[in-house]
Amino acid sequence: MTTVGILGGGQLARMLALSGAPLGLRFLVMDTEADACAGQFAPLLVGDYRDEAALAEFAGKVDVATFDFENVPAESAEWLAARVPVFPNPRALAIAQDRLAEKTLFRELDIPVPDFSPVATRAELDAALAQVGAPCILKTRRLGYDGKGQFRIRTLADADAAWEALGAQAAKVGLIVEAFVPFERELSVVAVRGRDGEFRTWPLTENWHVDGVLSASLAPARADDAVARTAIDYARRLAERTDYVGVFALELFYRDGQLLANEMAPRVHNSGHWTIEGAETSQFQNHLRAVLGLPLGDTRMLGHACMLNWIGQMPDALPLLAEPGGHWHDYGKQPRAGRKVGHATVRADRAEKLALALERAGRALGRDAQVAPVIARLRG
Ligand code: AMP
Repeated sequence: MTTVGILGGGQLARMLALSGAPLGLRFLVMDTEADACAGQFAPLLVGDYRDEAALAEFAGKVDVATFDFENVPAESAEWLAARVPVFPNPRALAIAQDRLAEKTLFRELDIPVPDFSPVATRAELDAALAQVGAPCILKTRRLGYDGKGQFRIRTLADADAAWEALGAQAAKVGLIVEAFVPFERELSVVAVRGRDGEFRTWPLTENWHVDGVLSASLAPARADDAVARTAIDYARRLAERTDYVGVFALELFYRDGQLLANEMAPRVHNSGHWTIEGAETSQFQNHLRAVLGLPLGDTRMLGHACMLNWIGQMPDALPLLAEPGGHWHDYGKQPRAGRKVGHATVRADRAEKLALALERAGRALGRDAQVAPVIARLRG
């Protein structure tokens, strides 16, 4: 009996546990919250990630450890890695936790990035703005997600307001200024690398965000083969350099035929949720296979798929369940503004069939605005 330990007990851990059940796996999930939603499907250990006693209990009960949450302190990941195999390795995790380390690595690997500059003081903010120019975004280096910890600087006159908003974070988590990219599209490549170095990717995915939070994903993205090949090549360079094991996502901006890397998520990723029903093997199943050293499954996709995120509260499931290619995922979370509480995936063998299904579902759910850009892309 193999037990996989997962640090973080949110929907990603929950979907990992669900996809591991057919492999006969057991799970132990660790989270700081007693109502973490993965706890509905796997034993939950409630504890702080810095608490050595809790980590020791966790390590003593699992055969291998992985993450549903990238902000587990790097020292805790290292402490665990001295006792039990941890994938991805703590070094890869540490790089992905820090926007500056991540962007520095992208540059080293010749992966284009928006211009950036680290900021520790108010004077450095001025220097960074002089280098990068406006518009740009001031971001926390660490602990930011879903657009949190970010301030848009439209003109240099916004510098004071930006410092007012985030300056206090400079000493705690560090700051970085990044050039604002007027992108045409946001794309992501979800990739997996096995313990033996085998590397696979799912088809390139296009993503739409609302208020910094993912709203919809479409796979395969409608992009030139050359763009898809470049994105996959960047993901491979990252995986090989960091000796990555497991699934990760590389988020990219597309503009004028060029790709710029935004960030790397060292875990299964929201833009890969469509793989549960839309691919021969899902990101969750392949992540588990990778960390356990099992053969990776085929990442081929089955037709076209669109994932719609449900934020705040779940809509009515019936219109989606009535769709032939409709699939429903309720994470069993309490509704809360801005919280990811579930998603749906709609799959069809042809692009136009998917567009029609999204039109019906969007109308029935009052979500026309959410599906509109996806439908436009499918028909464009
Ligand atoms: P992040 O947390 O860095 O992934 O940012 C969340 C979202 O904010 C991204 O998916 C983009 O939609 C937007 N964003 C972040 N950085 C930039 C940038 N440098 N230029 C334009 N938009 C950005």
